[in-house]
Amino acid sequence: ATPTALLAATGRGAGLGILVKGPQALEGLRRVDTVVLDKTGTLTTGSMTVTGVTFRTGGRGADEVLRLAAAVERGSEHPVGRAVLAYAEESGTGALPEVTDFVATPGKGVAGRVGDLPVEVVRPEGRAVPAKGHRKPKRPAGQRPRPGGLPAALDDAVRAAERDGRTAVVVRVAGTPEAVIALGDTVRPGSYRAVDHLKRLGLRPVLATGDGEGAARAVAAELGIEEVHARATPEDKAELVRELRAAGRRVAVIGDGVNDTAALAGADLGIAMGGGTDAAIGAADVTLVREDMGALADAVRLARRTSATVR
Ligand code: ADP
Ligand code: MG
Repeated sequence: ATPTALLAATGRGAGLGILVKGPQALEGLRRVDTVVLDKTGTLTTGSMTVTGVTFRTGGRGADEVLRLAAAVERGSEHPVGRAVLAYAEESGTGALPEVTDFVATPGKGVAGRVGDLPVEVVRPEGRAVPAKGHRKPKRPAGQRPRPGGLPAALDDAVRAAERDGRTAVVVRVAGTPEAVIALGDTVRPGSYRAVDHLKRLGLRPVLATGDGEGAARAVAAELGIEEVHARATPEDKAELVRELRAAGRRVAVIGDGVNDTAALAGADLGIAMGGGTDAAIGAADVTLVREDMGALADAVRLARRTSATVR
């Protein structure tokens, strides 16, 4: 490939709102045949809203639980964190207490300490889809423990959220589950066209998300994506990319979060959303500056044309 042609294409890319890190990225764009898409913040706007909160009966009280949850989420740059913070503010829970020992675990949630109270806002546990060939023996329904050890009202709230295609997170205070927060997200208007165009270019779309099965399926169905991996940890996302590549696929990953960094770095081509975290942008070969996924299909087309003229 002549550097001039590639540089010209890189310039055209910038015009499309695509920032390409080097000429190799263009080559990657040309050859890709599979696109692993993150859900929250990539296919969806990532601007979430709290749609409902269910509290444990006899718990600490709505205001205190929300205040504690919002206090630990203050340190998070995840859409869930921003939504919880905004919701607490609107609900007038008052000034947020200081948090110490703050830890954010990508793909899982946040934890911290308010005074001597440990507080966690995390994804519901225990619903992991069993790995292939590792099915747990079935127990009679009555003896089956509720997954994640949640009291019935909170467990029901998680199920209802799943059914409605919402994201659910659990608030734990001093180890006790106090509330389930349900959140809604919106598919980016550009995602419909983008997925459609990728398919027309012969690329196979695969949805991979740390979110639950319900929320994942809802978005996949809306966009016409058949292959879905829900409740995927950051490591699962990276492993999925490795497996696809081992099967001979040329894999692009599009993501926005810290949880996508390993998958982005392990892909043939990593693509970050422009509004995403610095970690994602740093790990990617290409950035979609305008957060318009339609630009990706345009970039693939451009890359294919470029290599045709260079040859
Ligand atoms: P996605 O892969 O769709 O971008 P993430 O991997 O970022 O989703 O998040 C997976 C799940 O982890 C979320 O659905 C949520 O349950 C939980 N989670 C992530 N970050 C937070 C946070 N700051 N607060 C609470 N829960 C979180
Ligand atoms: Mg994301």
